[in-house]
Amino acid sequence: MNYETTGGSKQSSPQPDLSSIVKFAKLDELVALGRANSLWPLTFGLACCAIEMMAAGASRFDISRFGAEVFRPSPRQADVMIVAGTVNRKMADMVKTLYDQMPEPKWVIAMGNCAMSGGPFVNPDQYSVVLGVEKLFPVDIYVPGCPPRPEALIEGILELEEKITSHRRWPKVETE
Ligand code: SF4
Repeated sequence: MNYETTGGSKQSSPQPDLSSIVKFAKLDELVALGRANSLWPLTFGLACCAIEMMAAGASRFDISRFGAEVFRPSPRQADVMIVAGTVNRKMADMVKTLYDQMPEPKWVIAMGNCAMSGGPFVNPDQYSVVLGVEKLFPVDIYVPGCPPRPEALIEGILELEEKITSHRRWPKVETE
């Protein structure tokens, strides 16, 4: 609005448009945004899929680009569990204990066919494998593959971000 005065040269300076740099949001949306962009995975792996998880953290795939590189050695400091590998029955109690020790809010990614459903160990005679980690605790994201590539795990991280914020940060790559 122009407040030009008559008989003088006084003129108010135009109000700067701050809409591009100042945003208003609900507090819980801001907290969710912070959580989604600074996921701290728990450091542990169970079998071959864990090698791909480690590769996702290394320089070629660089999961830190998505804010999820701070792998924590203690469940008390982690908010996402990436179950990477075969969950054997003799390990099930330990995995469940680690999950229980993580503070809320927490999320779980089942990485690979073993963690999703038992994978190649599903057969009538097997007795030692848990057929899907969802039998122990809730799973938020499933990343299929035997093993899934690091890019697939990164897509799982992005899906989890979307679940936390209800907003997709990066465009989805459509396969042909
Ligand atoms: S899904 Fe395949 S690669 Fe992953 S832990 Fe199971 S057997 Fe290994």
